[in-house]
Parts: sequence; structure tokens; C-alpha cells
Amino acid sequence: MTAIPDFSAVEAMDAADALRAFRDRFILPDGLIYLDGNSLGVASKAAFAELQQAATQEWGQDLIRSWNTAGWFDMPLTLGDRVGRLIGAAAGQTAVCDTTSINIYKALHAAMALRPDRSVIVSEGGSFPTDLYMAEGVLSTRPGGTLRLEGVDADTIEELIDDSVAVVLVNHVNYKSGELRDMAALTKKAHEHGVLVIWDLCHTAGALPVDLDGADVDFAVGCTYKYLNGGPGAPAFIYAATRHHGDVSQPLSGWWGHARPFAFEKSYAAGKGMLRFLCGTQPILSMRALKGALDIWEEVDMAALREKSLGLTDLFIALVEAKCAAHGLELESPRDRAKRGSQVSFSHPHAYEIMQALIARGVIGDFRAPSTMRFGFTPLYVSYEDVWKSVEILEDILTTGAWKDARFAVRAAVT
Ligand SMILES: *Cc1c(COP(=O)(O)O)cnc(C)c1O
Repeated sequence: MTAIPDFSAVEAMDAADALRAFRDRFILPDGLIYLDGNSLGVASKAAFAELQQAATQEWGQDLIRSWNTAGWFDMPLTLGDRVGRLIGAAAGQTAVCDTTSINIYKALHAAMALRPDRSVIVSEGGSFPTDLYMAEGVLSTRPGGTLRLEGVDADTIEELIDDSVAVVLVNHVNYKSGELRDMAALTKKAHEHGVLVIWDLCHTAGALPVDLDGADVDFAVGCTYKYLNGGPGAPAFIYAATRHHGDVSQPLSGWWGHARPFAFEKSYAAGKGMLRFLCGTQPILSMRALKGALDIWEEVDMAALREKSLGLTDLFIALVEAKCAAHGLELESPRDRAKRGSQVSFSHPHAYEIMQALIARGVIGDFRAPSTMRFGFTPLYVSYEDVWKSVEILEDILTTGAWKDARFAVRAAVT
């Protein structure tokens, strides 16, 4: 973007926005500009309606019968297919269950079991930490296994891939910088060495279109409480390509993954397809909220979503750089649209205090240590006017020095 738009140009962008009507489907508190949907998506009327129905009728009145009559038992796979549609996965390859961390554990073990003569996991030093923690946990059960990290053992993931590697575990969009990796190219490079790939899609699902099947991906995981708006602690998802279903296994062999859970047999027999990735009883109320959130996604054109996401992040970068240039903010996200997810990060030595001052003024983003301010742009409910106003408030906080107030330096447990 060359010329910096003025407010009337920004109003015109909202007027021309094809996704504008979706905003009314969400419950946005008055006076709040919410730029943290990359951490916890906002509630929707549809999610609340599902929760209400599930709590009062299905649990309150129908009780145990609801496992059959309300589709509770089948939800991991029925919702899985609906998430699958948003990430380029044909039916039967995605399950909704557990947390992303647990699904990483399952996928890593599954991949390593498919490559029994190899013992190396490759990942990235800049990964969301839970991925690395789970890789350590997996390796603690596999003597001789090692973890090679981009940024530690070599500059790029590609350099770390060779024929001793079993699996690459990688974030599609970096949680801090918002930088996007080339899924098809990295998957292809891994496959050339017989290496399997697990993509972490936490900052991808509901943020931009991807084509897991088209890119020939082996496994993927991701959460549903960020861009998909499933609600706090909503269950995660796991994808495994059909070609692996015959041989794949994972060690959390609970009864929900059994071929015949209600035969109550004495030993484990893995269920077919994605069933074998399930472990135990799932959080049904959370699943039902997610079901409501996914109803909205049925109507979303992912190409239009991506276009608006880039429009919002372009505008935010241009306005911040034009209006706040004197205050030492540095863009951490890619300037190149093709490499950018749906968030923008700026670093500043006082990022924490500035973010607290923004939150006190009704602009919610978040902080990632040591010095990153993150702003998530969720095209279904963020407007161009929100972008304009949030930059105006940021500029005011920086010029007046309002962030220097001592109360903004107090650190909370969750940042
Ligand atoms: C948010 C996030 C997670 C979260 O994992 P949970 O098990 O749901 O807490 C994992 N990976 C990435 C890349 C994330 O952004």
C-alpha cells in the first residue's frame, strides 16, 4: 500500500466488505475492539444456542439417552469432517478431540511408529513451546531418539532433513511473528527423504485457506478456540491422511478408540480410520459450543476471508507505521502478504505496558515475552474502522506516554 488511507476511505472499505454481515452473528461487548481472536475467538449467538440446548434439554431432560439421540457419541467425527472442510481435508481424515498438546503427542508417536528404523524429530526453535515440550515427552519414552531444532542445530528446517529423520513437526503460522510457511514445498522436501510431516494449524484453521490433501500432508493438529471461535478450552482436532489409516497406531489406547467400545473386551483393538485417534470421553458441552461456531463457518467463503484478512493487516501495518513511527515500534510480521498469517506483531521494549494501556482503553491484543505485541485480525467480526480506531488509540498512548502509569507494569499470570 502506498498512499495512507484517510477515515472516509476506511469507511468505504467497510461498505464494500462482502463479509460484513457476519459481525452480527457474534456477541461483541459494546465499546470493545477485539484484536485477540488469535488467542480466544469471540462467542457467537449460534454457540450460545447450542450450549443452551445441550445443557437444558439434552443433559437436563434427556440425560444418558442423549449419547444416542443427540449425536453426542459421534461428535468427534461429525465435527471433525466439518473442520476438515476448512483445512482442505476430504471426509474421514479429521477428528475433533482432546487438546492440541495431546494430539501432538498422538501424532508424533503415530509418525515415529511408521518409521521404526529412524529416531530423529525435527522441529523449530521458534515453535509454540508446547510442541517442543510434547516432543521431549515422546522422546523420553524412546531411548536414543533426538530432537533437532531449526535456529539451534541449523538455520533452516530444510537443512535438518535427511534420511535419519522420522518426522518434522512444524507450525504453519508462527504464533509470535505471524509468518507463514510454504506447506506444499516443505512437505515435498520431507517426503523426498521418506520423512513424515505434522503441521500444527493452530493459527491457520479459520484464519486462511489451506489444502492438506492437495499438499500431501501426513498429519495435522490444531485448536478450535482461536480463529474458529469454539470457546475457551474447546476440543482440538487431528488429521491423518487416509493412506496411513491401515498401519497407524498411537499409544493413548483408550476405549473411545476401540473398535467395539461397548463390547467391553479385555484388550485393545484399534477402531477404523480416525476412530483410533480417540482416547476417552469428550467434553460434550464444549463440543456443542463448537458445533454452533462451525455452523457459521459453513457459510464462509475462505478465499474472501483471506482477502479481507490481508486487507485488515495491510491497513494496520500502514497506519501504525505512518502514525507511530517516532515511538520505536518494529514490525515483526512479514511485510510480504504472501508470507503473512492473520496477525500483526510489533516489538517494543515496553510492549507489555503499552499492551496493558491499550486494553485499559478497550483495545484488546496480547503480549508475548519478551517484547512482542500481537494483534489478531479475524475477518468475520473485525472491521476496517476497528483497525483505524485501534491505531488512533495506540498513537495517543504512545504520544502522551500514558503507558508509563505504574499500574500497567503489573504482570498477570496470563498475558
Ligand atoms: C495455541 C497453540 C497451541 C495450544 O495447545 P493446547 O494444547 O490447546 O493448549 C498449540 N500449538 C500452537 C502453535 C498454538 O498456537
